[in-house]
Parts: sequence; structure tokens; C-alpha cells
Amino acid sequence: MTSTRTARHFWLPVANGNQRGGVRHAFRGGRWDGQPADVAVCGEHVALAHPSELDWISFPTCGTCSETLKGEA
Ligand SMILES: [Zn+2]
Repeated sequence: MTSTRTARHFWLPVANGNQRGGVRHAFRGGRWDGQPADVAVCGEHVALAHPSELDWISFPTCGTCSETLKGEA
């Protein structure tokens, strides 16, 4: 966590389409600029929307995104 050489990324909860629930993916960049879709660190192309506070709490972290970033650190 002390390394400043790590590429910047941010996390954002992504809803599972019209199903309930979703996953928190990591994305490249400093923050979400409001783009409607992006490619997550794990390679998944997902639609983005403003997450609710409940999304942040209830969506599990994407394991592939997490492992990928860990491998880069
Ligand atoms: Zn992911």
C-alpha cells in the first residue's frame, strides 16, 4: 500500500444487469468519470451506473480483479 509506482485504479460496484446483486470490479484510472461502460481489470466489459450505498456494502469484490492487482503490486 506504500508503493506509488502501482498503476492507479478504482473500485466500483457493478450491478448484474436486471438480476439482483452484482460484483465490485476494479477499473483503470484515478476515478470513474461517468462513462456508461468500461472494461474491468479482470477483462469483463461492464455497464456502469452510480452505485447506491447498499451496492458498496453488499456486492462482493471481484476475485479476478483483486488477484490481478495484487500480482502487479
Ligand atoms: Zn473484475
